[in-house]
Amino acid sequence: MNKLAIDGGTPARSVPLPPNYPGATVMGVEEADRAGITLKAQSPFRYYGPHPQNAVRQLEELMARDLGVPYTLGVSSCTAALVVALKALGIGYGDKVIVPANTFLATPGAVVASHAVPVFVDVDDTLNMNPDDLERIMDDEVKAIITVPILGSPVDLDPILAFAKQRGIAVIEDVAQSLGTTYKGRYAGTLGDIGVYSFQMNKILTAGEGGAVVTSDPVLFDRAVRYHDQGIFRDKDRYGMESPEETHAFLGQNYRMSDLSGAVLVEQWNKLEGVITRMRERCRAIRSMLSAELPDLRFRRSSDPDGDIGSNLGMFLPSAAVAERFIQALNAENIGTYLLYGGRPVYMLPQIFHQKTVDKTGFPFDYPFRNPVVYTADMCPTAVDLMPRTVYLPVSPVLTDQDVTEIVDGIVKVWKSINSVMNRAD
Ligand SMILES: *Cc1c(COP(=O)(O)O)cnc(C)c1O
Repeated sequence: MNKLAIDGGTPARSVPLPPNYPGATVMGVEEADRAGITLKAQSPFRYYGPHPQNAVRQLEELMARDLGVPYTLGVSSCTAALVVALKALGIGYGDKVIVPANTFLATPGAVVASHAVPVFVDVDDTLNMNPDDLERIMDDEVKAIITVPILGSPVDLDPILAFAKQRGIAVIEDVAQSLGTTYKGRYAGTLGDIGVYSFQMNKILTAGEGGAVVTSDPVLFDRAVRYHDQGIFRDKDRYGMESPEETHAFLGQNYRMSDLSGAVLVEQWNKLEGVITRMRERCRAIRSMLSAELPDLRFRRSSDPDGDIGSNLGMFLPSAAVAERFIQALNAENIGTYLLYGGRPVYMLPQIFHQKTVDKTGFPFDYPFRNPVVYTADMCPTAVDLMPRTVYLPVSPVLTDQDVTEIVDGIVKVWKSINSVMNRAD
């Protein structure tokens, strides 16, 4: 057998994979030109200036058209979008919000920034929220569920939407890392009460920072716009909305998107379909070649394979220790793979686990809940089991056919070698 690069053999690839930033890797002259127009017009603010270019508005119109949702709002980040969504729903001090164990710190962080408290639900072998675990954590202090399609693979939403409807609570879809993902043919983010997206560097499209809020509910939209802009609704006419200041205004924040970001994102949006098509095609090719060569290799399950955007391929290794070896060996082959969030459920991060906020009283965790919020290490056992042994291969839209072949050869080589070592150890 081929000697592994980690043991001094020749690596499967001579150079590392392209960076895992789908939007940024296709960024180019179009974004530069559009941003240049905004700067030359001396008008980087979305609502006014000497020659406003209305780029954020254009982005919102493109999103509404392509996602099939009437109300869209560009904001400064997805963390801001989550706070805006929670505040639009009227969630705050004394409320609990259900968050999956497998997500980025921003999801529970935004709940706390909204003065509510997160409670955690387990995942299943999709690595997304397990609908069957909702009942365990549900009580009448819970006001919403935030679903998170992890790394481009859809959440099994039907049972979650049914549960939320039956209990009279809201569903927010945090689609930060999965723009373009569909569930039963409809876009993730448009299926619950409010959806949010990120345009941070690491996400499917990017302007460095940025986010968006989408909804079909005009009342939620009115509140979202106001909360993101100091309680003001500047362009009611655009939506034909009656929203009198005297009765509708409340204090908000500044979570507005810069028109410079909007300019970049209008051009990025035009590239979305191409990015997804290429990632999906390459991800499927890699997966089917690996399946043919390695019948024992198990992949992360998808709740709707057609809806996967293919930005990452998740592989299950038998244990955390083997996963660690697999990643190190592949790294030496110049095939970068990784554990998401260091393989740890988000509630294990010290700031969440110890309920530490910036306030000296521990606000908002100090609320006297009837059913106290207590976090334990083993409260989501499937996340604890699967997260440290699910290895992700990022699939860049710029992978060539040769890259695909080298990736498959490298993974096959490392998998076979690790398996033969394990069998010898038995
Ligand atoms: C990245 C991310 C966020 C935060 O997005 P920002 O735009 O960086 O604020 C929120 N939720 C999830 C699941 C993310 O991956």
